[in-house]
Amino acid sequence: MSTRDFIEKDYYGALGVPQDADAAAIKKAYRKLATELHPDKNPGNTEAETRFKEVSEAYDVLSDPKRRGEYDDARRLFGAGGAGARAGFPGGFPGAGPGGQPFDLGDLFGGAGGAGARGAGGLGDILGGIFGAGAAAGGARARSQAASGPARGQDVETEATLSFDEAVLGVTVPLRMQSPGSCPTCAGSGARPGTSPHTCPVCHGAGVTSRSQGAFAFSEPCRNCRGSGQVVDDPCPTCAGSGITSQTRTITVRIPAGVKDGQRIRLPGKGAPGRRGGPAGDLFVVVHVAEHSLFGRKGDNLTLTVPITFAEAALGTTLTVPTLQGTVSLKVPAGTASGRTLRVRGRGVSGKGRPGDLLVTVEIAVPVRLTPGQRKVIEQLAEEMDEDPRPQITAAVRGGGEA
Ligand SMILES: [Zn+2]
Ligand SMILES: [Zn+2]
Repeated sequence: MSTRDFIEKDYYGALGVPQDADAAAIKKAYRKLATELHPDKNPGNTEAETRFKEVSEAYDVLSDPKRRGEYDDARRLFGAGGAGARAGFPGGFPGAGPGGQPFDLGDLFGGAGGAGARGAGGLGDILGGIFGAGAAAGGARARSQAASGPARGQDVETEATLSFDEAVLGVTVPLRMQSPGSCPTCAGSGARPGTSPHTCPVCHGAGVTSRSQGAFAFSEPCRNCRGSGQVVDDPCPTCAGSGITSQTRTITVRIPAGVKDGQRIRLPGKGAPGRRGGPAGDLFVVVHVAEHSLFGRKGDNLTLTVPITFAEAALGTTLTVPTLQGTVSLKVPAGTASGRTLRVRGRGVSGKGRPGDLLVTVEIAVPVRLTPGQRKVIEQLAEEMDEDPRPQITAAVRGGGEA
């Protein structure tokens, strides 16, 4: 049975009574119809059977003053009053489909209750989805399942400062954390050792109570047990009955390889412990990564700038360069331009997937001071190298002079 039946069905029409009919008139009409339509009197008559069900359903609602009031309110609210409301919702109802297709109110007023009410079936569940725990047993059941039971621990956030190498290669770090945790004295029950908590008499363990306002009932955390569903008579002396104490924990966490500065890493199940055996929350670690004196980082690639002499660039050489895992030989071809970047495969950040590369940029270092001997040799070199290294610039300069 769908919750929208409640809005669509005309219970007064089913019983053939006016909307202002009193309880006696409703009862009388029901008895008459129920006797006429009873399946025992109409064997094999499906139409009578259907009518009998309609009449019974209508009477179940209209004979209960509280539910009758809710039914009246709902039909007023959604403008579906009067006979022939089967066409669905009037235009402009929020959420109504483009074709005026009625949708299920259970979705509108909290999915859990609605789903529970539908799944449970039966007349008493019609109202569960719409009107909350107070209106129908089905709704109350659905809600109590959601509210009681073990609670998941809180998520905890902390920070960790890593060296450049640790961030690139991954590291296991101890983290000292101050966080609420399960009380060691009472193991989280909140009750003095040797005693045990009992089910809250106000909410019967559901942790929620419901408050009526017009047609609707709102559920709110139970005040008697503060939403826990359990009451402690003799509180634990360590945690004063809360079951939670502030604890310093040192946990060891593995920071995966390849994290970046400012990245927030989620470590499932490493947060605060759950209450009453519930699952632990998650730990979020915001990492700060220190700069490296030599290496830079571009995504999964490491960068390194290596000065070389003009002679090395012109003649070619083999450099020995550092990586985060030992040194490598890097061949610089003859005629390498200053600023050229050479790639050392697989020596970058080994995060997920293929490891990054080490990108080595060579820069020609120009000597600031020259010995007389060096100066003489370089002057000879200059005479020898009579080719213009910048023909386009020279042409532009000439062109500009003529204009
Ligand atoms: Zn309670
Ligand atoms: Zn305790």
